[in-house]
Amino acid sequence: MPEDALPSISLPPVADERPPAGLSPWQAALYFFEDGACRIQLDGGCADLLRRPWRELHVSVPIRRDNGTLEVLAGFRVQHNGARGPYKGGVRFHPQADLDEVRALAALMTWKTAVLDLPFGGAKGGVQCDATTMSENELRQITRTYTQNIAHLLGVSRDIPAPDLGTNAQTMAWMMDAYGARYGYSPGIVTGKPPALGGSEGRAEATGLGVALITRDTVQAMGRGVEELRVAIQGYGNVGANAARYLDAMGATIVAVSDIHGGVHDPDGLDVAGLQAHCARTGSVAAMPGTQDCSGEALLHVECDVLIPAAINGVINRETVGGVQAPLIVEGANGPVTPYADHELTKRGVVVVPDIIANGGGVTVSYFEWTQNVQRYHWEQERVEEELERVLCSAYRDLLVRAASDGVTLRAAAFMTGIERVAEAIRLRGFL
Ligand code: GLU
Repeated sequence: MPEDALPSISLPPVADERPPAGLSPWQAALYFFEDGACRIQLDGGCADLLRRPWRELHVSVPIRRDNGTLEVLAGFRVQHNGARGPYKGGVRFHPQADLDEVRALAALMTWKTAVLDLPFGGAKGGVQCDATTMSENELRQITRTYTQNIAHLLGVSRDIPAPDLGTNAQTMAWMMDAYGARYGYSPGIVTGKPPALGGSEGRAEATGLGVALITRDTVQAMGRGVEELRVAIQGYGNVGANAARYLDAMGATIVAVSDIHGGVHDPDGLDVAGLQAHCARTGSVAAMPGTQDCSGEALLHVECDVLIPAAINGVINRETVGGVQAPLIVEGANGPVTPYADHELTKRGVVVVPDIIANGGGVTVSYFEWTQNVQRYHWEQERVEEELERVLCSAYRDLLVRAASDGVTLRAAAFMTGIERVAEAIRLRGFL
């Protein structure tokens, strides 16, 4: 094998026993953890520690709606594990962001930062609300009150939030301000801020760029080139839209995309620049002239070479997995493939690149942002992109090697590596 060739992807044997269907997000995250822990024969005490989040905070978030009514929302911050460094993970504003989901996402952050070998632990936050129906004034109130209520858990060396579903750079600017009002100017308290407030160049695009880089390396390991690919992307938010843009620039053909309002399909390829302009004008990819309509669920079943679920969790499940035609799935969202569907896909020879590496570009550039803030220094976009590719692609290469040498799926290799690293930190610190 030439030195820079990527190891090829082989299909591991699959156990006959099917995982249960209908698991909650936390049960699904735990299922993948148990599988990885069992494969590395993790000792019982350590497994027990890692099965539980270290700390969970449930807060009330009262806001005055624009129509004058008072509404009390539920907010959470779950710190899953901090053995490898300060807790790190996004904040989600979404109707499904309950404690079960936030806990699952916090655990995924622990494994994600460990797989990428970033000096962070894992956490996640959420406020149960529909951000798409809120005014700017309402969103600002939610953000400030939520931040004040969890501020005692945060800190530049304790816990550093970032954007996720329903939140963005503006949300982070408000969080930084609300935290700063109590503790003083602290740009490193959140990542994903606007560059004008100390945010990193390239942070907004980082998750989508990472998804594109991982897709490129995966097809290369499968003996193909990115220019041959026909790609379907579910979700046209920050992750999906940027993944489409970068894959299009790499020469791939984007055949279908969807968002919450609808979707579009063209087997000959969509005009990605035109789509971006259409979306900016109408607020959705739906009804782009010259394309066929395609719902978010129908998109999962479109004929393509790569399917990128980049919207929400649990979309490829017992009900939808049967119709998936793609031989490769790259998880842009967190937890889009359930354990039941993952088992089914592996049995059918479909390669699944797990979330904890595939969408790791975002937290990697968050790490760069945090280091820039700590040093009061600013990197150029070019440096951010180069270092992102180096960190993400070398971590991915290690997973490809491990999956091939241990004869396991990429997900199993990722969980095994992540769990080993966290367990080692726990032992070294003397937790157990
Ligand atoms: N919310 C993103 C994720 O799920 C980014 C987290 C971060 O940058 O801390 O990975």
